[in-house]
Amino acid sequence: MSGYLNRMLDFNAPYRLLVDGQLVDTVSRLDVVNPATGEVFASCPAAGAAELDAAVRAARRAHAAWKALSFAERAAFIGRFAAALDAHKEPLARLLTQEQGKPVGQSRDEIARAATLSVGMTKIALESEVILDNAERFIELRWLPLGVAGIITPWNAPVNLAAGPLASALYTGNCAIIKPSPFTPLTTLRIGEILKDVLPAGVVNVLAGGDELGGMLTSHPGIDKISFTGSVATGKKVMASCAGTLKRVTLELGGNDAAIVLPDVDVADVAKKLFFAATVNSGQVCMAVKRIYAHADIHDALCAALVDEARRARLGDGLDPATTLGPIQNRRQFERVCELREDARAHGHLEEAGQRAGGGYFVAPAVVTGLAETDRLVAEEQFGPVFPVLKFTDVEDAIARANDTRFGLSGSVWSRDLARARQIAARLEVGTAWVNQHRITAATVPFGGAKESGLGRTYSRMGLEAYLEPQVISVLKS
Ligand code: NAD
Repeated sequence: MSGYLNRMLDFNAPYRLLVDGQLVDTVSRLDVVNPATGEVFASCPAAGAAELDAAVRAARRAHAAWKALSFAERAAFIGRFAAALDAHKEPLARLLTQEQGKPVGQSRDEIARAATLSVGMTKIALESEVILDNAERFIELRWLPLGVAGIITPWNAPVNLAAGPLASALYTGNCAIIKPSPFTPLTTLRIGEILKDVLPAGVVNVLAGGDELGGMLTSHPGIDKISFTGSVATGKKVMASCAGTLKRVTLELGGNDAAIVLPDVDVADVAKKLFFAATVNSGQVCMAVKRIYAHADIHDALCAALVDEARRARLGDGLDPATTLGPIQNRRQFERVCELREDARAHGHLEEAGQRAGGGYFVAPAVVTGLAETDRLVAEEQFGPVFPVLKFTDVEDAIARANDTRFGLSGSVWSRDLARARQIAARLEVGTAWVNQHRITAATVPFGGAKESGLGRTYSRMGLEAYLEPQVISVLKS
């Protein structure tokens, strides 16, 4: 086994930034709260302009050698990174649960998925293409790396949402600077320590910091591309800021995913799947099911089955293996979900199951009926385990209501009639429309939002092209 796998990280060591292959400290610090207790449990350095400038200089310096490698050579580095992630899966998963809140099984899945996706991106071929080659002319399309990519991530799935952009940037010959959310910087910093052992100095730099650090990345003249995952409101600011230096930008933003359930389904089976898709990570998933449109014939039975699922959920600290639903990640989001829940309680009928006392940011899962499209829980992205079930009789009406939003991330249709379900899915104004499933992605399949849910796609060849500049070589032979 090579050194990087032999050297297991010390998870008790102080957290450090990764800049130019060195672990560095700063005077300025970020306190990190465990959402299961509401208490600060760790702190880490917070980068400012000086650390960002140093990281950009290092990344630009490292870029010449990194881009000169072949795809296969860069894929080998990414493979080693993925293997090291796997080797550290257990302590990384526990740390992720401590700072993010999700049940530790979901944290393990997130780390494993980050490794699989990273390797998956390197299986995608991206050769140059000869467009024309005749007696007179030769025209070739090539792909050039952009340079340095800034990767800004949110707090709901910090590892997974860094891994896709990072593998894409690296594989295509770019260097990177990762900035995790100030709410969940720790697992990303530990991953920085892994990257330090696996990659040449400067190729990846990891800078924890507040929102203002994100703004510094998007306006920095030494950064060529921003991959941003987060809220719609911040995504618009990111795009405006990137315009100053005409950075390339990929935006993965929020969603308000609708699931349309036709009357021919197996209600108990669909309820189980929908409940999971609405409440996994306590509903804090961009592509969680956030509105359920149920046909009148099965509406009441589906609601009863969903409430049964809610009763079976075990609310608690994610480190407890019995927990199926952890806390909301931070106080601000907790207050927002509570506000939307109380608004829904005032306007509809709310059935919730399982309260948890104590200091953490716990919200019990709840199924809400009788709401109008204009009620906040329907119209806004709740990002919590409280969700509306809305009745329809005419599927045309359900499609129109599902589409009547500025969000367009994803959606799903549930029916035994696959042909009909596919036709309905095709009419959803979203980046991904699933049939009889929700929240399924893969390295080879493009993912991203329509409308205000994003710009561009991650994963797949389309995702890789977003880290490359197309270049045409055109030769006149005679
Ligand atoms: P957020 O927009 O508040 O923050 C995301 C990141 O942006 C953080 O690192 C933050 O520090 C940084 N940031 C804040 N202000 C910035 C600025 N002006 N310029 C640059 N960076 C800045 O989002 P959040 O609350 O952390 O995450 C929740 C949101 O993310 C939800 O809306 C969710 O749907 C969305 N999300 C989308 C996807 C997707 O793939 N489409 C995936 C996960 C989450």
